[in-house]
Amino acid sequence: MNKPNFQQRAQQLREKFLSQIPQRLQRAEEELARLQRDEMDLGQGLSELRTLFHNIKGTSSTYGLSEVAQLAERAETAFAEALHRNDGQTPANLLTTIGEGWGLIAQLRELSGQDQGGVQLPTGFDLSQCVTPDCHCATDPNTQIIYLCDDDADLRQQLINQLGCFGYQVRGFANGVDLLAAVAEQAPDVVIMDIILAEGEDAGLQLAKRLREEARLPLPIIFISGRGDFNARLDAVRAGGVAYCTKPVPPIELVDILDAMSAHAEQDPYRILVVDDDPNLASYTALVLREAGMTVEIITDPKTVLAALPSFNADLVLMDLYMHDCVGIELARILRQIPGYLSLPIVYLSGETNMEEQFNALSVGADGFLTKPIKPQQLITAVSLRAERMRSLRNLMVRDSLTGLFNHTNIKQMLEHECIQAERQGWPVCFAMLDLDRFKEINDNYGHAVGDQVLIAISRLLRQRLRKSDIIGRYGGEEFAVILPNTELGQATEVMNALRASFATIEFFTQGQVFHASYSCGIASSRQYLNATELRSGADSALYQAKQKGRNRIQVDQAPESKPDV
Ligand code: GH3
Ligand code: MG
Ligand code: MG
Repeated sequence: MNKPNFQQRAQQLREKFLSQIPQRLQRAEEELARLQRDEMDLGQGLSELRTLFHNIKGTSSTYGLSEVAQLAERAETAFAEALHRNDGQTPANLLTTIGEGWGLIAQLRELSGQDQGGVQLPTGFDLSQCVTPDCHCATDPNTQIIYLCDDDADLRQQLINQLGCFGYQVRGFANGVDLLAAVAEQAPDVVIMDIILAEGEDAGLQLAKRLREEARLPLPIIFISGRGDFNARLDAVRAGGVAYCTKPVPPIELVDILDAMSAHAEQDPYRILVVDDDPNLASYTALVLREAGMTVEIITDPKTVLAALPSFNADLVLMDLYMHDCVGIELARILRQIPGYLSLPIVYLSGETNMEEQFNALSVGADGFLTKPIKPQQLITAVSLRAERMRSLRNLMVRDSLTGLFNHTNIKQMLEHECIQAERQGWPVCFAMLDLDRFKEINDNYGHAVGDQVLIAISRLLRQRLRKSDIIGRYGGEEFAVILPNTELGQATEVMNALRASFATIEFFTQGQVFHASYSCGIASSRQYLNATELRSGADSALYQAKQKGRNRIQVDQAPESKPDV
């Protein structure tokens, strides 16, 4: 049998929900009867009834059962109002509410028992508009053709070279006439364009307008300019620019933009923790988010959230507002009191439409309020946007700003983690330390900005060529570190040596000159060392030896005992 598609699975969940309504109503009847017999605390009873109907309302509206939702809402309101005037409750008032409750339950029972097959699920779920970063809907970036128009020959040459290292085929043009002619012959995937060209102060903007008019398909244009003021940016946006970089342009910025455009950045799927004490609704929410490529874990007991969070590593928590035992607002408060979760996005997904209640719920530091029913596409977009922001923030904290690699603190922590993991799994982990050769000379000869380009190039090369499981960090100024889990020393040496050879062939262009850079590397394996600190110092002393022996080479750590033959 074929795997059910999204609509079919959603339909199954909806039918399951309908089949469970009688049980829920029975619970409501029991509570109501106990209230009537004065067998339970009035406040507690009314509150439970309110939550029960609130949940029925939320789920039924999600499944497009609007009449059921309306009746449930009437019951919710009746019990909420009774709860509100609890202190000043008169027997007559209470009796009216209870009577109304019985009536609504009877109506709900009848309505939910009817054939609801004709009711449609909310629509608006379009997978062609995928918003998750791991979606490979775009074309292969290796075949991306980029036209670069800039009258600065040096910059052109350098960008062509640097972007080329990362798989982008770039053709350079010194003026608009040549660019237009080339576009007419073969349209590129992206145009990178200077605003001030030899033809005039705003020649780039004029050119962009013509390109837009003449190109058959929309042509993304990235502007690069010496100006960074508001008006220049505004002009660029009006000319249809999709991105804007100020000069001097760090190539990594361009590579990042290009990667994002082509969905080249192979990010992990967003990780969403769904907290809802209604398993059915939680499954539906999870279904929608998973369908969009996200990784979802469901928690139906809010008390287990703290235990689940550390291993799940959520980008966002999507929580119901009214739950048994602990309401969303309390759970949000608990999370905000834990330093590690201060910036974790918390978004409510609730049927609560009262603005004041929503405001209260947000006031504890939550990030958003989504009201049920919500269209699947809206839910996906709302969740993706916030999860993405979380990722960016996290990256700022743990990554080096120039290279985008993990920073020193993080790479050290990760090495410790990987050493423990290696011991547990019984596999070796290798640690490599890289240091650029005579880097000071590069800075002295060509300037600091050019030196930065070299740092970016090596970090991109490492990223592009190493495995996804390898961890890469910028260890210091011109020092880099690579953790290779589950790798023997021989394998690690081979890989690092191949990278060394590639890096040494990269040509850097500046001021009409060409130069090369190289690095030395020291490697050590956990087979020789028991802990991360020793492993680091092993790699460090091997690096020192590599420098001593003449640079541009890999040196395997010569541990005092049990030294392997490599
Ligand atoms: P060796 O081969 O012995 O490693 O020589 P070296 O010149 O690379 O080593 P040294 O430690 O003497 O110089 C490192 C230089 O790296 C000095 C410092 O200014 C430069 N540097 C550190 N961080 C950065 C950076 O972020 N950008 C640039 N452009 N240069 C940096
Ligand atoms: Mg150094
Ligand atoms: Mg150096």
